[in-house]
Amino acid sequence: MKELEKNNPLDDLNSQLQKTLSSSGSGIHFSPFIPHFQSKNKEEAFHNQSVKENEEILNRIKNFNLKPREIRDYLNRFVIKQDEAKKVLSVAICDHYNHIRHCLAKPESANSEYNKQNIILLGPTGVGKTYLMRTIAKLIGVPFVKADATKFSETGYVGGDVEDLVRDLVKVANGDVDLAQYGIIYIDEIDKIASDPSMGGRDVSGRGVQINLLKLMEDVEVNLFSSTDIMSQMQAVMEMTSSGFNKNKKRTISTRHILFIVSGAFDKLSEIIKRRVAQAHIGFAAPSSKASEEEEVFTYLKQAATPDFIKYGFEPEFIGRLPVRVACESLNKDDLARILNSSEGSILRQYKDDFEGYGIELRMTPESIIEVAERASKEKTGARGLMTIFERIFRNFKFELPSTAIKSFEVTTEAIDDPAAYLNKILLAHQHLQEDVYKTDLKRFADSFFQANEIRLEFDDEAADSLIAIAIKEDKTIRAVCEQLFKDFHYGLKIIGRNTQQNSFKINKLVVSQPDKELSNWVVESFKKAEE
Ligand code: ADP
Repeated sequence: MKELEKNNPLDDLNSQLQKTLSSSGSGIHFSPFIPHFQSKNKEEAFHNQSVKENEEILNRIKNFNLKPREIRDYLNRFVIKQDEAKKVLSVAICDHYNHIRHCLAKPESANSEYNKQNIILLGPTGVGKTYLMRTIAKLIGVPFVKADATKFSETGYVGGDVEDLVRDLVKVANGDVDLAQYGIIYIDEIDKIASDPSMGGRDVSGRGVQINLLKLMEDVEVNLFSSTDIMSQMQAVMEMTSSGFNKNKKRTISTRHILFIVSGAFDKLSEIIKRRVAQAHIGFAAPSSKASEEEEVFTYLKQAATPDFIKYGFEPEFIGRLPVRVACESLNKDDLARILNSSEGSILRQYKDDFEGYGIELRMTPESIIEVAERASKEKTGARGLMTIFERIFRNFKFELPSTAIKSFEVTTEAIDDPAAYLNKILLAHQHLQEDVYKTDLKRFADSFFQANEIRLEFDDEAADSLIAIAIKEDKTIRAVCEQLFKDFHYGLKIIGRNTQQNSFKINKLVVSQPDKELSNWVVESFKKAEE
């Protein structure tokens, strides 16, 4: 199940690609690698596939049988540390989906009193709060939507309407309301809607948003078409006029079984708890004197109680709807190194996959992993720091290596110190192989020209050498050089083909140096031949 995305983002991408390629002037029609859903049949197949997938997920929910330990074990494969959060979340998730299974098996029990296990996650940025929930949603297969609380306003006219979150769940479930009603909604930066401005909250409008969220977390019916969004209203009208008023078609979605997770850094909450702990003296854990600032905040956040949240600026009813509370730990440099070494979803794996896409193997020495972790921890943004450091190191590698002969490389501490110099070094070491890469690129150009026009271009060695020289001099790819030089060839060669049936053409050094002149000579010759 995917996260929120546009209806069919591939359509936009496809049309953009087509535009770019057709404006290149080569006349070569590349068929993009991306599947096209424009044709009716494919669109239907896509729809049927997603209906089938959704049915499978609904069946899984009906037969939900995971145990908390199984969920914890699954989380361990991806998320480092956060043991307490993993335990608490695993139990809450099992309770929630067991209850749903029960309601589905015995609909009459759905009306019985049940307190939903909505969850509040506390802790600094980048330590895995969203990642935990996203991973759980993936395991169960339910739709997942994330938003920042700060984007909502009390009325929904300026900023967003909290009910949009529920409509977004329906979008993620490809319009399947039956599935969306079991989804998970994640709201970050909840600490920013506390009504006490001295806590970094928003004043009275924060209170209004809390009240709106409160209603949503209860059992309400949300209209599938937003009353504040003109597009949505138009869509509602179109649906009614195109299919007639279908009484069976759902127009609302219930939030009864949607699980809500809210999260925030809550830095200043720890100060409130600290004061309370200092006054009470007994029965509370104080941080050790050696604890870092982050560890101290964690020790206090773990002890957050309802009165602390109320003091912070939350409505008692609001915080009361969030019975599951758990604090997440900060990540130190050893944790960050562990993420790189062992998390199945780490940024290192992602980069390895990215390079693998070009047939390039990426390796990192153990020392370089430690170095990256150290630098990332100085960013003070948790595991997000890893992304920042990786981007800095690999930016030029990602740009250059796919067009070279390099099929594997190893990142060392030297590469981290000066990525540009290291990249140059490995490029130089492989330069002698670069000619083969250019020749392969030239063959790829000739192949796509043939696919588009059914005309073969045969480049001799001298022509290939000239093209390579131009590519190096102008810092362009062979494809770009060929598209520029031979941009009118498909017209001319087709005319020749009609005149003489010729469908294969030899390209020599002369053609490369004056392509248009040679092409027009060929065309003139072909007319002469046709007249003979
Ligand atoms: P936040 O706590 O702000 O919600 P995220 O969960 O969005 O942070 O973390 C950002 C990214 O950092 C995740 O997508 C994941 O790749 C990585 N990450 C964060 N925490 C951990 C962790 N404890 N273990 C493994 N990866 C993590």
